[in-house]
Amino acid sequence: MLCSKCQKAESAYHRAYSGEYLCKKCFMRSMEDKAAKTISKYSMIGYSDRVAVGVSGGKDSLSLLYVLKILFEQHPNNGNELIAITIDEGIKGYRDESLQIVKDFCAQLGVESRVLSYKFLFGVDMDEAMVLRPSEKKMSSCSMCGTFRRRAIDIAAETVDANVIATAHNMDDQLQTFMINLLAGDVERIGWIYPEPVQYASGMKKIKPFIEIYEYEIAFYALQREIPFQSEECPYMNESIRTDLREFFNRLEKDHPGIKHNAYNSMMKISKTLHSAPSTEGRKCSVCGRDSTGDVCSVCKNVRVLTSNKQI
Ligand code: SF4
Ligand code: ZN
Repeated sequence: MLCSKCQKAESAYHRAYSGEYLCKKCFMRSMEDKAAKTISKYSMIGYSDRVAVGVSGGKDSLSLLYVLKILFEQHPNNGNELIAITIDEGIKGYRDESLQIVKDFCAQLGVESRVLSYKFLFGVDMDEAMVLRPSEKKMSSCSMCGTFRRRAIDIAAETVDANVIATAHNMDDQLQTFMINLLAGDVERIGWIYPEPVQYASGMKKIKPFIEIYEYEIAFYALQREIPFQSEECPYMNESIRTDLREFFNRLEKDHPGIKHNAYNSMMKISKTLHSAPSTEGRKCSVCGRDSTGDVCSVCKNVRVLTSNKQI
């Protein structure tokens, strides 16, 4: 089968939801074009923005770093700068390998990189947190880790003087997050996931350039571009309902190609009507002094619970 775009090369990929057959070159270009289109559609990156990319060592974040590097090189007059930030959660045997992958890949791309750890920032790492968390409280591994990671990325981006934080959330992540919030009855959060970036009081902008791309296409892109990534999964991952939703949507997509794409469009329409940034109404956490929706922010609450158990 010939590539539906260039009509010259043999196709290497069948995009079932659009019916296209793409050769390797056209597939890779289509992914970079999709990311560029999303960036422009939602005005994600402006002139002279210094963009910190959250890079974990997985296929999505390394691909995002690569794509942004290409796009910035194609438009040198825009004056954009790129820096990779990596958060070390302190998960033995899992994170150690990915830290090395990120370091090597950044060196290969010539992109500056910075690492910050939970242990350094919060005094506790994920391996310890899993032991210290009280069994009677609902502290799932991923919700605890997600709270810490968001804060760690904010701090890392501030440390490197970035004004934009780019993360590699893809369409599948977005579908799962929508459903998690829906099932939890957390309607306000549904409005937070709309891709149009909100400017936080600190001046920081958060963007997700891969939001309109399927997860498996990013994996295929990483393989085609020969991006070395960590494929091993986090040992604490299975506690999340996210895993169930991921499998559910993939099963649906297999039988009904394009269903994820349709669901995404419907969900984003709903999200748009509720769109807002997390509102703190100028409140600050009484412990760390950062913006907070309550007296004490969720990061400090978690640290407090974990460290009080440590002392016992
Ligand atoms: Fe953290 Fe969960 Fe990701 Fe593991 S899978 S790194 S616990 S958010
Ligand atoms: Zn706090």
